[in-house]
Formats: sequence, structure tokens, C-alpha cells
Amino acid sequence: MSQAPTTLSIGIIGSGFGALAVAIELIRAGHTDVRLWERDEALGGVWRDNTYPGAGCDVPSPLYSFSYEPTTRWKRRYALQDQILEYLGDVAAKYGITDRIRFDHEVVSARWDESTAAWTVGFADGSSDRVDILVPAVGQLSRPVLPPISGIEDFGGPSFHSAQWDHGVDLAGQRVAVVGAGASAIQFVPRVAEHAAEVRIFQRSANYILPKPDGPFPRWYAPAIRFERPLVWLAGEQFSRGLDDSSRVGRLQQSIALHHLRSKIDDTALRDKLTPDYPVGCKRILFSNNYYPTLTQPHVHVEVDRITRITATGLETADGTHHEADVIVFGTGFDSQDFLGSIDIVGRDDRKLAEQWNDGARAYLGIYVPHFPNLLISYGPNTNLGGGSIIYMLEAQARHMRQALDQMASGSHRSIEVTADAEQSYDEEVQDELEHSAWAHCDNWYRHRSGRITSNWPGSTHPYARRTRTLEPDAFEWA
Ligand code: NAP
Repeated sequence: MSQAPTTLSIGIIGSGFGALAVAIELIRAGHTDVRLWERDEALGGVWRDNTYPGAGCDVPSPLYSFSYEPTTRWKRRYALQDQILEYLGDVAAKYGITDRIRFDHEVVSARWDESTAAWTVGFADGSSDRVDILVPAVGQLSRPVLPPISGIEDFGGPSFHSAQWDHGVDLAGQRVAVVGAGASAIQFVPRVAEHAAEVRIFQRSANYILPKPDGPFPRWYAPAIRFERPLVWLAGEQFSRGLDDSSRVGRLQQSIALHHLRSKIDDTALRDKLTPDYPVGCKRILFSNNYYPTLTQPHVHVEVDRITRITATGLETADGTHHEADVIVFGTGFDSQDFLGSIDIVGRDDRKLAEQWNDGARAYLGIYVPHFPNLLISYGPNTNLGGGSIIYMLEAQARHMRQALDQMASGSHRSIEVTADAEQSYDEEVQDELEHSAWAHCDNWYRHRSGRITSNWPGSTHPYARRTRTLEPDAFEWA
């Protein structure tokens, strides 16, 4: 690894997996001025925010960890939120990152200054900072969304989003309405149903749900955990191949999911409600062993009629029924399409990133945006996955960023900017491939209102790692 200059100042926004991946890569490469800004008072990104009961990962932990920081301490194959958060804290401490994080620093603006080749970063409290290199690493799922249902403000009882779980509300003996039936809901519904008097799930779309090969790792198994990593990675690559719209793997996933449904749900009316009406993989394929069994309990109900309004005492559906509820939990997902939308980013020639991305976010390799020099995005557009571990992608991005900064140093450049041509042809290539993906065939959080799929990388992770392994200097302008 070449020795990088120590003079560049690098500011990273966030402190989740993406931010840590970049910070570790650059610190290990010799960069000394690496600072992180975190809007919260603790690190961890989504693994800090999502504390709902049952929160955990649906990617096996031997793979859902940094490649250079394997741990044999995972308690089970699919780790729960608290252990992943602990892992992140341990890694941040080990690499000296915790002390570099400025907590309670919410970045609200960033402006490129051509004359000094630096970014001026503004914070919510009115203060500011300046850095040569700006790395937003705010994730794709960091802003919870409440649905635009009329009367939502009128509800008289407690209500909250799954990513802002109110642990002060005791759900024991309560009638709990759950809006949404996605990846988060299928994890917390079984736990809520253990104590609630009634759980009523308002489901807009059914999901394909596969059994989860989960279980505790016995202590004697610890040394074997690291050998699982390549196997889990290979399985993830195969899984991702199923997300091509004509793949045999996809058909296999569909038949396993539907068999899973039939084997757990005898009631044909309930089974009908739970049968997806879109091609497999179009929405995220979920994993659970306890969601279907929970739905067969007498105090758990699935409503598929559209919610027409929320009242002071419950929710009304399109069939005219008013469903009384004491508490409403919204498992309604995140604002995934407004990439970096909470930060007013202004690049060269006063270009606003939000305007440039009016038809959906796009970036060369998901990292570099024309007209925005020295802006390097972690987990940017078209780098999310339908299967496999996002950490693999984050590491690949961090390695590419490190090479970009190496190249800046070796050429004594002050700035790096992707050319419009390179970004355009990359985007065309990615969008062409995405047209053949399962995601093109239904509404999902991967698509922008313009119709472009802006969240996901097409296919498996290996081609992305290969693509980002070396820097293509001609794709950039160096000043
Ligand atoms: P989500 O998968 O987007 O699910 C949101 C749910 O709310 C869907 O059922 C959606 O219905 C419903 N919904 C949204 N707006 C609605 C409205 N106006 N009226 C009625 N229903 C509405 O959100 P999530 O469950 O929070 O998960 C988001 C992502 O986070 C996942 O896809 C995954 O990538 C990640 N996640 C990962 C894990 C993990 O295990 N690693 C766990 C949780 C979350 P439609 O389907 O019809 O839109």
C-alpha cells in the first residue's frame, strides 16, 4: 500500500458501517486528518437507530462484518441489533475512530469553493468546518417515513415509527395496530404479539418470505465462524443472481417461499392475503421463521383493505370498518430516494446536487458526481443490494476512494472530478442492466418517481468489486 499524504483533510458525514469503512481505509493508508461528523450523540447509523424488538440482520454475521475484522464472538448466525452495534463500537475504538467523531454535529449544508479547492460544511447549530475531501456516508435508510394518511395527527394514543421505537410505551395488554409489513415489521410483530392483547397488521403488499437458517452458535463452533464467510458470500452471490428477471434461481426462490407459506398457513383466506401478486425479488425477499406462525394466533389479524383515515381511536379501512387501536406502530420504511436530501450540497459553478439529481440520484461507481469535485459518496446511488452483504460493497468503495486520494497525491492535484462522459456511459450501462432485473416490475423503495432504479446495483457483488479494484484515471479530471 503506498504511503498517502498526511496533508489532505477529510470529513466524513456519519458513523455507521459506511463511514467506518472509509475512515479505517484512509487511516490505515496514512491519512491523519480524518474527522467524522455524527448528528446523534452515539455512533452506529441504522444499527443505533433501529432498536425495535427483534431487530436483527438478515445477512449472516460471518459475512456481515468487515473482512479485516472477523470476529468469532457472534452469538448466533443472524446477529441481533445489540451485538452488531457493539461490534461497530469495538471496531471504531480499535482503529482510533471514536475519538475522531464529533457527535451532535448534524451537517445541513456543504459548499464547494473553487479558489481554495475545499468544502465548507455547515452544521445545524450554525457552526462550520472546512475540508479538502467530503465523504457523505449517511446511508440509504436513515430517514424514517410516516405515511401520508389523513388524520394521522388525530390519533389519541401513542404512535411511533419502527426506527424511532418508543420503549417507554408498554405494549402489554394493548391493541396494537401495525402499518406496513416489510423487513422491519416481520421482525417486530412476533415480539409485540407476545405481550399485546391484539395485533392488527395493515398490509399493503404481501412479501416472499424464506425460512431463516438461524440459530445460536455453540461455543465450540467459534473457530469455524470465519470459515463460513466464503460460503455465505458464495450463497449471497447465487441469491443475487435470482434477482435477474428471467433466472432459474429466482424461480427456485419463489417456489421455496410459496412452499414455506403453504407449510405454515393452513387457513386459505389468510394464505391468499399473504401471497404476493408481483414477481419474486421485486421487493426485498425476506427471511423469517416466526412471522407466519405469529399470524396464526387468534389475537393477530392481517388487514389488506386500504387505510382511508386515522381517527382519534383507530384506523378506518376502505371497506368502511373502523378498527380500534391503543397504539399505532408505523413499519413504513424510509425516504430512500431523496439521496443526501437533508444536506444542501452546492458544487462547482453553484450547481445544486438536489437539482442535478431531479430525475433520480446517479454517480460514477455510486461514488463520484460530475460538477462536484472532491465529493466521494459512500453507499451512494446504485450500490444497494437485494442479497449479500452491503459491507462488501462499502469496503470496495473505500478502497477506490483511497486510490483516488493516492492519485491526487502522486500528481500533486488539488481536486478530482469524474468527467460527465464517464458518468453518463456508466449510468447507461447500469440502467440497461437494471431493466432486466426483478426490481423493474413493481413498486419498491429502489425506484425514483421518474421510474429510474436509483438504489440498487444490478447483480452480484463480485463484478462491483472487480470494477472498483483499480482506478481509471481517464474517467476523471485532475486539477
Ligand atoms: P419497507 O420494507 O419499505 O416496508 C415498508 C412497509 O410499509 C411495506 O409493507 C409498505 O407497503 C408499507 N407502507 C409504506 N407506505 C405505506 C402507506 N402509505 N400505507 C400503507 N402501507 C405502507 O421498510 P422496512 O420494513 O423498514 O425495511 C426497509 C429496508 O430496511 C429493507 O428493505 C431492508 O433493506 C432494510 N432492513 C433490513 C433488515 C435486515 O434484516 N438487515 C431489517 C429491517 C430493515 P408496500 O410494500 O406496498 O410499499
